[in-house]
Amino acid sequence: IKGEAGSGCAFFTESLRRQNLQEAALEAEGKQALRLGQFQPYFQPKFDIQGGERLSGAEVLCRWIHPDRGVIPPCEFIPAFEKSGLIVQLDRYMFRQACQWYRRHLDGGGRPLNLAVNVSRAGLLREDFVDYYAKTKEEFSLPDGQLELEVTESLALGGETLFLQLVQQLHQRGFVCSLDDLGSGYSSLNLLKNLPIDVLKLDILFFHKSVDKNRERIVVRNIIQMARELHIRVIAEGVESMDSVAFLREAGCDTVQGFVFAKPMPLADFERRLEGEG
Ligand code: C2E
Ligand code: CA
Ligand code: CA
Ligand code: CA
Repeated sequence: IKGEAGSGCAFFTESLRRQNLQEAALEAEGKQALRLGQFQPYFQPKFDIQGGERLSGAEVLCRWIHPDRGVIPPCEFIPAFEKSGLIVQLDRYMFRQACQWYRRHLDGGGRPLNLAVNVSRAGLLREDFVDYYAKTKEEFSLPDGQLELEVTESLALGGETLFLQLVQQLHQRGFVCSLDDLGSGYSSLNLLKNLPIDVLKLDILFFHKSVDKNRERIVVRNIIQMARELHIRVIAEGVESMDSVAFLREAGCDTVQGFVFAKPMPLADFERRLEGEG
């Protein structure tokens, strides 16, 4: 069990200590990388699947474009950034980048999109959380109902009252709120009872671990059905085959995000893709 930073070092095993040193180095490097603008938003398109496939938006996903090590995926630095709290600055930086781009997109006559960014637990717990996001949205005069904030379910568990208040405040300021990674964690469907969430993100890859495809589909179908009755939109994430798309369409899922249609891509590629869609 870990002690507080700076006081509990004596208790660390060698490997834990090494890991901590690595994390400290990563944090220092990360701080500098933020200043140098080495973090870039990648965009993974989302497609509405009811009645043909239409690109309806994107999730903004962070990449570290490292001068020596190339493109570093988030799994290699987000956990360390979450521990150090640097994730809050990174999330806000990503959101600002997204807003900046979206303003340019709209100014250039681009059509409305649904643009989602991830918000970490630490970010949500900051006192100025709603204010920062709302003020940034207003700074770029972005319309209501198009910017989406994704938070994971683990966060809502245990802090339901706070979570409820935050979602209400975000709604007042024109944000769409989504619950990320449903199906990956201690998924409490119970949460949906009380939370006025707009979108539910179903991690289909999680369900793929099941042995019986038939049973898997019954579970997914019923979650979608339940969400619909609660007027919650459903995005299926991690969709890799057209077979799954066909099933999801039939099950009433609204939107698909997955390698079957597109991987996360740099802005230039995303813009090209948008143009292609007309
Ligand atoms: P996430 O929020 O669940 O994002 C979806 C992840 O699933 C992305 O991984 C995406 O590339 C991947 N994915 C999407 N479709 C498919 C598919 O069909 N097959 C497979 N195998 N994977 C698919 P990515 O970009 O590596 O991000 C991993 C996680 O890192 C994210 O999971 C999120 O939790 C975190 N993350 C990424 N960017 C940010 C950020 O700016 N802020 C915060 N707080 N977390 C971030
Ligand atoms: Ca997400
Ligand atoms: Ca997710
Ligand atoms: Ca995930």
